[in-house]
Amino acid sequence: MADVSIQQKHFFSDKVEHFTESVIREMTRQAMLHGAVNLAQGFPDFPAPVEIKQAAQQAIANDVNQYAITWGAKNLRNAVARQMKVWQGITVDPEKEITVCCGSTEAMISTLLAVCNAGDDVVIFEPFYENYGPDAVLSGAKPKFVTLRPPSDGDGEWTFDERELRRAFDRHTKAIILNTPNNPTGKVFTRTELELIRDLCLEFDVLAITDEIYEHILYDGTEHISMASLDGMQDRTVTINGMSKTYSVTGWRVGWAVAPERITNAIRKVHDFLTVGAPAPLQEAGAMALSLPDEYYVKLAERYRVRRDHLIPALVAVGFKCFRPRGAYYVMTDIGAFGFQDDVEFTRYLVKEIGVAAVPGSSFYHNPADGARQVRFAFCKKPETLDEAGKRLGKLRR
Ligand code: GLN
Repeated sequence: MADVSIQQKHFFSDKVEHFTESVIREMTRQAMLHGAVNLAQGFPDFPAPVEIKQAAQQAIANDVNQYAITWGAKNLRNAVARQMKVWQGITVDPEKEITVCCGSTEAMISTLLAVCNAGDDVVIFEPFYENYGPDAVLSGAKPKFVTLRPPSDGDGEWTFDERELRRAFDRHTKAIILNTPNNPTGKVFTRTELELIRDLCLEFDVLAITDEIYEHILYDGTEHISMASLDGMQDRTVTINGMSKTYSVTGWRVGWAVAPERITNAIRKVHDFLTVGAPAPLQEAGAMALSLPDEYYVKLAERYRVRRDHLIPALVAVGFKCFRPRGAYYVMTDIGAFGFQDDVEFTRYLVKEIGVAAVPGSSFYHNPADGARQVRFAFCKKPETLDEAGKRLGKLRR
């Protein structure tokens, strides 16, 4: 009887009918259930740098245990502003233009809630990190997808069609979400590509929301360019970043959004009522992390390059076609050689029978069929973990 009345009342928001739970995070639960090696969710399985952990312990010992200022501890905001100047030549006012959030995930949803109205369109390159779709829905906006095409040969670059991108822009377009270095493709957008996007943002009066969480994880001599550093873009860009990937602390949940003052004011209001603030002692540790010497970042990228070059040959040897990433720590693969019906069936087999968890490609596309031949592997793991995965994958048959 009670159940019936619940159904009649329809207690659910229409919004939640439009997306599922995260497949990436579901694959981690599957990995745990089946004792599989987890190359699905992108989190390191090795320790965070000792100096950062000590800074966090020290902050707690020093009783930094109450709320920080809602938009972020001053030390961390100052450190973010200083590093944006050093790395990208961007001048940021830490008092007026930075909001520290619970991870870049919250920075993205707070930004979209702060800028979007029902009826607005948001342009998203596809394949896309799966949060962006639900983020757009929750903020009332309609995502419009522009395809990134894989290279025909695994060593080439993912590209988009300039005309298709232009067609996605019109008077309803509020923002474009850009993620460079890109998850899941590993694409690092070039200056020419960014300038093309910049020109469209200026022509159609559109905001760029850029997720730059992998900014230091670059290979093969590629360079990370922040959209906000391009002429004309600083006053129409929200730059999102965080500690998770750069300092291997995905569970700390410390990220930030950098935006012009008026947009920051809107983001701060949403952020305040959503979460009040990110963990205070971990923000202090973040200020310390952002003062690590340059060689930290050089080593970080080099260590991930070695891991990339370790995993890809193991995948190729058993029959995957790999699209070599230029940045971030994922490799997208083509599974055509294995003769499975689709990516979901394949990853289910992989986690249960082979003992390796990966992410089905369809979770990065709005139309699942477009990702049905693709699977993503994360290589932000210890060499032993990658070895074990390689050994297990050796049981796969084409
Ligand atoms: N960005 C990571 C991934 O794509 C995971 C992030 C998350 O699960 N919050 O796997």
